[in-house]
Amino acid sequence: MTSFAEFHRQSIEDRDVFWAAQAQLIDWKVPPAQICDYSNPPFARWFAGGQTNLCHNAIDRHVAARGDQPALIAVSTETNTERTYTYAQLHAEVQRMAAALQALGVKKGDRVQIYMPMIAEAAIAMLASVRIGAIHSVVFGGFASGSLATRIDDAQPTVIVSADAGSRAGRAVPYKPLLDEALGLASHKPQAVLLVDRGLVPMNLVAGRDHLWAELRAQHLDAQVPCEWVDATHPSYTLYTSGTTGKPKGVQRDTGGYTVALASSMPAIFDAKPGQTFFCTSDIGWVVGHSYIIYAPLIHGMATIMYEGVPIRPDPGVWWSLVEKYKVTHMFSAPTAIRVLKKHDPEYLTKYDLSSLQALWLAGEPLDEPTANWISSAIGRPIIDNYWQTETGWPILTLCNGVEKQASRFGSPGKAVYGYNVKLIDGETGAELTEPMQKGVIAIEGPLPPGNLMTIWRDDQRFVNTYWKSIPGRLIYNTFDWGVRDKDGYYFILGRTDDVINVAGHRLGTREIEESISGHASIAEVAVVGVADNLKGQVALAFAVARDNNVAGDPQACAALEKSVCNHVDAQLGAVARPARVYFVSMLPKTRSGKLLRRALQAVAEKRETGDLSTMEDPAALQQVVEAMIRG
Ligand code: ATP
Ligand code: MG
Repeated sequence: MTSFAEFHRQSIEDRDVFWAAQAQLIDWKVPPAQICDYSNPPFARWFAGGQTNLCHNAIDRHVAARGDQPALIAVSTETNTERTYTYAQLHAEVQRMAAALQALGVKKGDRVQIYMPMIAEAAIAMLASVRIGAIHSVVFGGFASGSLATRIDDAQPTVIVSADAGSRAGRAVPYKPLLDEALGLASHKPQAVLLVDRGLVPMNLVAGRDHLWAELRAQHLDAQVPCEWVDATHPSYTLYTSGTTGKPKGVQRDTGGYTVALASSMPAIFDAKPGQTFFCTSDIGWVVGHSYIIYAPLIHGMATIMYEGVPIRPDPGVWWSLVEKYKVTHMFSAPTAIRVLKKHDPEYLTKYDLSSLQALWLAGEPLDEPTANWISSAIGRPIIDNYWQTETGWPILTLCNGVEKQASRFGSPGKAVYGYNVKLIDGETGAELTEPMQKGVIAIEGPLPPGNLMTIWRDDQRFVNTYWKSIPGRLIYNTFDWGVRDKDGYYFILGRTDDVINVAGHRLGTREIEESISGHASIAEVAVVGVADNLKGQVALAFAVARDNNVAGDPQACAALEKSVCNHVDAQLGAVARPARVYFVSMLPKTRSGKLLRRALQAVAEKRETGDLSTMEDPAALQQVVEAMIRG
């Protein structure tokens, strides 16, 4: 077995040899003429000259050997349904959808926008779209009409696939009226809208534009739609970032590089085998959902579970009951979901047989130590943090246990993944930091590995200016996250580059203060922001959710807990890090993907305009912040 260090070295120093070998993991119609064309940096053209198809690699190539094996298991605790599609059934279903899309006018290179709840048809629409060489653009189902309208105008879809409604915590959430509203707002008009009628809420159909999936499906029951072979560099999809730091960016993904990257990640990162079962609790509206609910498990011949519902209904054991029932081997979730479970008795998790589970991977946000400890002791399986971005499509930092088993280090997502030439850079001078534990901006030397964004959709200039021009004197990809690396190559993420505050000349990461406060036994969740202060330049304000729901409404309890939290920070980090105030609320403002919206908190605290809030989960959270500050 190659050591991980050697594996990583090859991936950078013998790049083309390394990736030529990984490219063997997928089927090509025409093998690549070149492995990496980097003649026009920072634009990398992976596997140029090759032709392949993402849907072929995810489904068709498995049908002969594993036609009867489960491919997609769609579970909804909202409608109490569970449906398993074998590879053969998924193959048939995707062709029906592909035929329907073609009948509605979709051709190679056209966009198909998907605005759907977590139902099997959403996955089928994605797969059908790439099957015919169209480019899908999934818009998270929780977005309202305004956000959807901007995305419609950006993607300019030929067809939009949607549904009557989603369902959340037992309540139907209508989609069709929001879609109609968005189509009223958008200047682009699609040729057709394809609707899945789940029978949750009545729909008004617009004659000539709206079509029912059930009807089209019936017309195309025996459809045979061959895969369209596309160039490796043909876009497979576009997807927006979460908008945590500003206006979301439309990431454009290729076909060949993405398929190879995901195929290689399954054995190397996840130590996964065909026939096993992957359960990723994300949403298809996010990159984690694209890569690890849909494409990677299928490319690797695994079964994948798609889940509609919340993690605590009918009770907080529901996900773990699925692990037992479907003998899940790989589970992937986010710290934010685990923090929801953490408010409940761990009994809910431990009563199930979780012995099939190899590990639980978590990504999307910093994994704080109390949360990691709680879930680790509750399920008794390894917890593996992994750090990446919508832009990269697959992990930048984690443990590649399939290459070589590696010990995890607390607070660290691990080492640089193969293919990623990660550097720590002094953000001001552009100098590379090579000593252990020096704090710098996490940057990636080009070319970005396969699977990473090709560009920003329709905006090459924004791609170059945003990611590659922000560090003085060098063309290097900026992640906009701070980190340090220890002497063994493990990285620690210190927060986003715009989350650093300056208190009387001391530069503090809000993440460190949050980490300390969340370690306080009475705190469930916390956000810390730097707020302008006449005297000190900036002060840290903390907004916290207490474990006891009654605290926020009780001024005396607030005062007592505030004092206790401040003492805790003093003892752990020193008085310089002590927040000027700790305000208690019952929820924090988050993006719909569950990330803290610190910039909105900061704007409210500084009484400024809040900027783009289109990706915010619940506006009531900001209102609570305002009220907590007024109460003082
Ligand atoms: P935008 O770029 O629009 O502001 P966003 O960065 O939140 O939004 P995503 O691509 O969904 O959009 O999130 C990627 C970011 O999430 C990373 O840059 C990092 O800040 C954070 N992140 C992801 N995984 C981890 C992790 N394991 N540990 C710490 N931070 C993480
Ligand atoms: Mg980002």
